[in-house]
Amino acid sequence: MAGKDVNTMKICPKVWKNGELVDWDNARIHVMSHVVNYGSSVFEGIRCYDTESGPAVFRLTEHMQRLVNSAKIYRMDSRFSRDEFCDGTVELIKESGLDECYIRPIIFRGLDEEKPAFGVNPFPNPIDSYIAIWQWGKYLGEEAIENGIDVCVSSWTRITSNSMPAMAKAGANYMNSQLIKMEALLGGFSEGIALDDRGYVSEGSGENLFVVNAGRLITPPLGASILPGITRDSVIQIAREMGIEVVETQIQRAALYLADEVFFTGTAAEISPIRSVDRITVGSGKRGPITAKLQEEFFNIVNGKRPAPFGADWLTYVNAEKKTAAA
Ligand code: PMP
Repeated sequence: MAGKDVNTMKICPKVWKNGELVDWDNARIHVMSHVVNYGSSVFEGIRCYDTESGPAVFRLTEHMQRLVNSAKIYRMDSRFSRDEFCDGTVELIKESGLDECYIRPIIFRGLDEEKPAFGVNPFPNPIDSYIAIWQWGKYLGEEAIENGIDVCVSSWTRITSNSMPAMAKAGANYMNSQLIKMEALLGGFSEGIALDDRGYVSEGSGENLFVVNAGRLITPPLGASILPGITRDSVIQIAREMGIEVVETQIQRAALYLADEVFFTGTAAEISPIRSVDRITVGSGKRGPITAKLQEEFFNIVNGKRPAPFGADWLTYVNAEKKTAAA
């Protein structure tokens, strides 16, 4: 492996920077960059899976579309198109030799050292784009996928769409996520669920949420100030293809306690069952049958073992020639 090992974490020794590959050690910014002081970044989190036909990136185009959408909301012109970000990612994975990895593209407002600007006004600051990749295991722990996790409802309200648009995956949104996550961890939970400003269920600090009730899947609508999750969309489509009804509607906090099953979705968390909320056991207290079935289908799709629902194309094979050979 061409990678660099840091505390057993394999990291690609190259970073894509504004269209070129630079050394990991040179992918640095000045402390007075706008992003450090004012949180002005938008980013993505994407997974590349190890399949029989080599590494394959899950829903790369959709992730990069969300990246350029986030940049558009914050008036950041990165100079790179969605497709250029996709091509840069593939180039970087090829360079790394990693079979599977987590991909972190980020666009932020930096510092022009010739013409420094230190105010809140972001317009004078240059915009830089980077992509870094590394090998990352299960976000909520290996066991979480099977046994589920214990979560709480946070005392922090989710950001509202008219102050910090949740539709953008902006770095600054994660200050709210950090409050939720820290409170949960210090309270002995693995994760926290935020309610929106009207008191309805919104999402986890880094995951969307689904409830299973009488065989139906229920998930908060985009209006509940959630990130339009790509795993959320994938689960909705997988469920619909399986004939499971999916409803996007508001969910009350108490409905979490009475649900048959509850689970999180996210690129990092994948599909993670929730076995208790606020120490109240959910359903049987372990992964439920619908969660298990959706996980099975999801992992088969991301690992290239079955096609995506409704004829969609969800995998970008890094070694395109290998895919043809195996097909
Ligand atoms: N909500 C938040 C706040 C997140 O950070 C994430 C992770 N990106 C998600 C939901 C899930 O989104 P996705 O499935 O696209 O990773």
